[in-house]
Amino acid sequence: MKLLVKNIGRIVGIESTGRLRVCGAEMDRLECFDDAWLLVDNDRFAAYGRMDELGEIAADQVVDAEEGMLFPSFCDSHTHLVYAGSREQEFLDKINGLSYEEIARRGGGILNSADLLHETSEDELYAQAMERVREITAMGTGCVEIKSGYGLSTGDELKMLRVIRRIRETSPLEVRATFLGAHAVARAYRGRQGEYVDLICNEMLPAVAAEGLADFVDVFCDEGFFTVEETARILRVGRKLGLRGKIHANELAVSGGVQVGVEYDALSVDHLERMGAAEIEALHGAVTMPTLLPGAAFFLGMSYPPAREMIGAGLGVALASDYNPGSSPSGNMRMVVSLASIRMKMTPAEAINAATLNGAYAMGLSRDYGSITLGKVANFFITKPMSSVEFFSYAYQTPLIRRVFLKGGEVFGMA
Ligand SMILES: [Zn+2]
Repeated sequence: MKLLVKNIGRIVGIESTGRLRVCGAEMDRLECFDDAWLLVDNDRFAAYGRMDELGEIAADQVVDAEEGMLFPSFCDSHTHLVYAGSREQEFLDKINGLSYEEIARRGGGILNSADLLHETSEDELYAQAMERVREITAMGTGCVEIKSGYGLSTGDELKMLRVIRRIRETSPLEVRATFLGAHAVARAYRGRQGEYVDLICNEMLPAVAAEGLADFVDVFCDEGFFTVEETARILRVGRKLGLRGKIHANELAVSGGVQVGVEYDALSVDHLERMGAAEIEALHGAVTMPTLLPGAAFFLGMSYPPAREMIGAGLGVALASDYNPGSSPSGNMRMVVSLASIRMKMTPAEAINAATLNGAYAMGLSRDYGSITLGKVANFFITKPMSSVEFFSYAYQTPLIRRVFLKGGEVFGMA
């Protein structure tokens, strides 16, 4: 099956040197190619060239890009998009000035999401999540990581992970699954956090690994949640079972989560609203990708991660949506890219690299996804004609994404 895309105004995000991530000053460079055609063969990028040099190419399908730009699909490396119901009541409560404790009493917070998930069948959970999957697919996401962590019991964590596996099998997205039993201490274990960590290590992780349900293990390592020692223990057990770490770190406090993540070769440390010089230093030369979630800072009215300091220190960063019912009820990666520029002063080029190649790296997928590279999987979208790449970040609410192709097939088209 050959697909030819012609009349492309600009191909954006070409990676021709084989890098698996971009760091520091390199993040501000986006390799582009103007007035182009592009050929997909057997779901992979096979060739591209200039329109005025397009000879005879036998293709099964020809798509006219009508001078729009062609981007690699977003790689959203941090979401919690499998959940039951929604939390707009909590949103309203916050607007009306209720405290966190009052909100929890009225049905907000992770534990209440867990209660609701417990009552929801696997089929219903899948149906609700697929609505969100279709939504993010139309908004340009091609690879997504999805976490468990609203189960908080062995049975309900496995239920969530089976829903994620079903999404992986039935949606056009490339999906990676993360076990996040250490999202909060389950209600039944209140005051017995150590025993809950025992349950994660002795029962949940072995069960998850036995069914092959997760690629990664995550821990909410932060003030009021799990300690550095507990995080290290969970990462060690995960590693023995073949699950690499991905850490929720430094959202609420300088938690030590960055250092423990780096020590155990975590693939990413995520959030990072609170970073000191020691955290940036720890990430220097590490395999661990710092991942920023500006949608959560926006929705909660928190301070933003110091992206400029991190990039200035030579680090690469990734951007992800944190799509979840409590702190970021949106999986719109275009909005995330625009927020990165507006609130963290990342250039549009840096933000696009962070949301594509570096996001793919943070899921262990950048050999096959995250850029327009010959041989990589053909995940891309075509925009309306635009005056520049910057316009894509600037006109942040204009529906610019016109057609979406994943694994070489069209999955969304705007009339
Ligand atoms: Zn999260």
